[in-house]
Amino acid sequence: MTAPLQPQVRVRTWRPADPHGPRPHAADTDEAVSLLGDRPLVVLTGAGMSTDSGIPDYRGPGAPDRTPMTYQEFVSGPVPRQRYWARSHVGWRRMRAAVPNDGHRALAEVDPGLLVTQNVDGLHEAAGSRRVVALHGRIDEVVCLDCDTLSARVALHERLEELNPGYADRHLTAETRPDGDVEVDDTAGFVVPPCDVCGGVLKPHVVFFGETVPPERVARCFDAVDALADRDGALLVAGSSLTVMSGLRFVRRAAKAGNPVVVVNRGATRGDDVATATVEAGCTDFLRALAAARG
Ligand SMILES: [Zn+2]
Repeated sequence: MTAPLQPQVRVRTWRPADPHGPRPHAADTDEAVSLLGDRPLVVLTGAGMSTDSGIPDYRGPGAPDRTPMTYQEFVSGPVPRQRYWARSHVGWRRMRAAVPNDGHRALAEVDPGLLVTQNVDGLHEAAGSRRVVALHGRIDEVVCLDCDTLSARVALHERLEELNPGYADRHLTAETRPDGDVEVDDTAGFVVPPCDVCGGVLKPHVVFFGETVPPERVARCFDAVDALADRDGALLVAGSSLTVMSGLRFVRRAAKAGNPVVVVNRGATRGDDVATATVEAGCTDFLRALAAARG
């Protein structure tokens, strides 16, 4: 068994053998809602949660196979960072405009013991959810890699607008991904400012692929999952294909302890084999039904 505090590197390693094939442990919404009943819950959410807020899920059915920039590439030199920030600057407008959907609101009503999200969009918090762990960080914060100072993305956005006038407007039609990145090619002239405090390198405060999720964040999630065992609790996964180990390990942990695991997602997930019930449904519809049942 993996020790909970062992560093966990976020890597992409899995794709379903047959994304459209039948899923093991298939159940309908009513069956899964009834299985969850009034049990104490830990909920893990992914990109499928925010598609109804206009943020596309680039791993969802039919999505093209694109690889996000890795941490190693980001820190390798100024050119990849220029490319990252140029694309992210264009995508930020849509990320910033996104608002919570009915699924986010229903989940805030359900008020689980802990809500772990792989999303960096901040929409659970905006919907009023309490006790949220943003496993992969927040796209609306910026961190300096040299002095660790945190700052607001809004402030950096204004500086980027000043330094690159008209750039975002020229790429309005570019496609946005859940991490706020977009497909933009002419990034060579994009100007990225250094840290205000020390002149160091600025990075969005999100966990990149190839980067370690902070151990204290992981520990808080494991503690909540482990506490389910004593309280006849359950784990619900909503809108994640569980491709990355950073989320999958909580599913395996809950299943191993004998807690029911319900996985709601459009398309097969890497956790289907150990799930008690898998539901082929959108997050919003399912969470509405769950909130109504738990009233
Ligand atoms: Zn700094």
